[in-house]
Amino acid sequence: MLKCIYMKTLKEILNEARDSSIAIGHFNVSNLEQLRAIMEAAKVYNASIMIGLSEGERKFFGLKQAVALVKSFKEEYGLPVFLNPDHSHSVESAKMAFDAGFDSVHIDLSSLPFEDNVRGTREVVEYVKSKNPEISIEGELGYLRGESRIQKEAITIKPEDLTMPEEAAEFTGKTGIDRFSGAYGNSHGISLDEPALDIERIKAVRQALPKEVAMVLHGGSGIPDEEIKEAIKAGIVNIHVNTEIRVAYADALRKFLAENLEETTPYKILAPAVKAVKDKVEEKLRLFGNI
Ligand SMILES: [Zn+2]
Repeated sequence: MLKCIYMKTLKEILNEARDSSIAIGHFNVSNLEQLRAIMEAAKVYNASIMIGLSEGERKFFGLKQAVALVKSFKEEYGLPVFLNPDHSHSVESAKMAFDAGFDSVHIDLSSLPFEDNVRGTREVVEYVKSKNPEISIEGELGYLRGESRIQKEAITIKPEDLTMPEEAAEFTGKTGIDRFSGAYGNSHGISLDEPALDIERIKAVRQALPKEVAMVLHGGSGIPDEEIKEAIKAGIVNIHVNTEIRVAYADALRKFLAENLEETTPYKILAPAVKAVKDKVEEKLRLFGNI
């Protein structure tokens, strides 16, 4: 039977991305306008994408509202789109998003000691898989510095912050996750110093993990394009971008408001911000090989 493209699971799509050396973009949103802009960009390249909401973004957007809106875009655009609860920092918050209808799960207990991270992540995997074994679950190991904004100071990444291949394999084996997120010199936000990815480390972790486990790169904002391409060649199949979208949105909005002090119509005020987000996401989709 011929399978419609939008029926593919996230696991299948990430496996295909690995085989064709491209990466699936994961883009964060805080509101409907950003979601629409990202969907329009995805439509340009018929790209499979992930839409992410952090815990703060989920609180602002509403869990049920995010699920309903992503579903409506999926139907209207006919594209494979997966809604992901980005960086769920507790077992409860991950379960809550899954129960609300998110298509994917990200449990991030990387700030906890290794054994506690394993225990909590495994609990989420068991819970989700018992209800739907097709859901792709991401776990995280290794400390990622920074927040999703333009950093005022340089971020120093120490060698001991980087993910060890043996630990990545042990973590993946003990938890049963489908996507592995590690620390390879990336950081959240746009750093003052230029981040340098440890490509050799990415390759080493890739080799240590089972083939079907997808490798995720967080903190995709501000990393030079050439390094992103190298990271994809080394095995990264999923790249998270948040800060660059926020900056594009906020800059366009600020500029329009400053230049149009009399304007009060929301769809006119927000139009340049939507355009800026769409352009930024199109640029990332091209960079990730979705053309
Ligand atoms: Zn992240």
